[in-house]
Amino acid sequence: MASMTTERPGAGQAALSIDVEDWFHVENLKRVIAREAWEGCELRVERNTMRMIEILDACKARATFFVLGWVAEKCPQLVRTISAMGHEVASHGYGHELVYSLQPGEFRADVLRSKQYLEDLTGRPVRGYRAPCFSITDWAVPILQDAGFDYDSSVVPTVAHDRYGRLNGMHAGRPIVSLREGFYEASISCIRVGKRGLPWGGGGYFRLVPYRLWCRGVRMILRSGMPYVFYIHPWEIDPGQPRVDGLDIFSRFRHRVNLHRCEQRFAALVGAFEWMPLCDLIDRWKAGCSSAQLQCSRH
Ligand SMILES: [Zn+2]
Repeated sequence: MASMTTERPGAGQAALSIDVEDWFHVENLKRVIAREAWEGCELRVERNTMRMIEILDACKARATFFVLGWVAEKCPQLVRTISAMGHEVASHGYGHELVYSLQPGEFRADVLRSKQYLEDLTGRPVRGYRAPCFSITDWAVPILQDAGFDYDSSVVPTVAHDRYGRLNGMHAGRPIVSLREGFYEASISCIRVGKRGLPWGGGGYFRLVPYRLWCRGVRMILRSGMPYVFYIHPWEIDPGQPRVDGLDIFSRFRHRVNLHRCEQRFAALVGAFEWMPLCDLIDRWKAGCSSAQLQCSRH
């Protein structure tokens, strides 16, 4: 433990997160699958999430599951199982609306609805929030803290993306920051290019980049003295999900690239590193910061 005071807080630690939504919730498909059509879509999230839990269990890895409130209402037993298996249950909001497209009052209602329901199911406080499609924005932060969250994990400090949101003060070299007293941001990992970075935390990039190269990048981030934060969705290990007509080539590529290889890749990644849930990563970072401050104050 003595070494913690000489390292940067959170150094070399890896957190794994899973955004629990189904294949038809994806923002990329919104133009062809309207919100009203969700009820008629085949529900595949429970089986896919259970498969991920098995993969984690085989490696004794623990993760954070950001569960969409809509999914929790359809699959309450899944949420109880995630919690009972020792994982962290956190919130992905209720209706998968982009945060910056909502009014503050609508956003508050959305996050409270999901948080309260998840807490009723698990009997545990929900500490973390992840915005749909990483659409976080500055005005949302005090609302999250007021609603009882103590961290957000929705920033991708990347070069450019058509839909990602942004928070002031975040960059790839500072992956965990205290945004307000008692409220933290743990951003998705990037490989640093100046203040911005190449996305190296999951999604289509994880399916596209050769697996060995991906692992080299993860090790590089961990060796550089930063924590690593990974994310994935249950539908990404499901090549049998329905094919959607009417998508442009780019959207189809983004959604389907290497789905057939992803379960194997995910299992390999889970086995290749030591993983913890985001709540533990943040608690260790806080402990590291306070011990570093203590050490500074002694000199
Ligand atoms: Zn999502």
